[in-house]
Amino acid sequence: MYFCQQTKSHMQDFINELPKLAKDAEKENLKFFAKLKKRTPKNLDYIMQELHEEEFEKTDCLDCGNCCKTTSPIFTNADIARISKHFKMKEYQFISQFLFFDEDNHHVLQTAPCHFLGADNECMIYDIRPKACREYPHTNRKKFHKISEITMNNISICPATYNIMEKLKSVLEEKAKR
Ligand code: SF4
Ligand code: SF4
Repeated sequence: MYFCQQTKSHMQDFINELPKLAKDAEKENLKFFAKLKKRTPKNLDYIMQELHEEEFEKTDCLDCGNCCKTTSPIFTNADIARISKHFKMKEYQFISQFLFFDEDNHHVLQTAPCHFLGADNECMIYDIRPKACREYPHTNRKKFHKISEITMNNISICPATYNIMEKLKSVLEEKAKR
């Protein structure tokens, strides 16, 4: 099932529904990823690139911002150096003001929504945002089948990821019938 998020209010309805939709699809998605890992289509990178581009042609992240509101990116040392320099802060000051170490020893944000999320879902540090923000939701990542855990988590947060997964399942199902 795909969802239309062509207006802001449709998008909000979709975001509200997303945890339940993700839960309902969880078993099927886990099974799907297990199969994808066993028999990975040779052109998976190409398929993912197409699905990703197609989805983000109709999804405007400025209508959503749910990732920035609910989860934290990992801040690498390079991210910390770049962003603290931008604010003319010492790195340790930036860390103590905004970040903490999570259970995996990654620097993540102290608060959600992200401190740098501005009005209308604009990122206030867009040009220098963390690498993880630039790459989110990783649906155009090469070897997509290897990031099943991240994707399973993102399905309940990111409307675009949910739609891309639904589309991927139906595309591969169609291919298998041929
Ligand atoms: S740094 Fe910008 S893109 Fe990253 S979570 Fe914060 S607001 Fe979102
Ligand atoms: S990446 Fe996903 S969760 Fe983040 S703003 Fe765009 S659609 Fe929303």
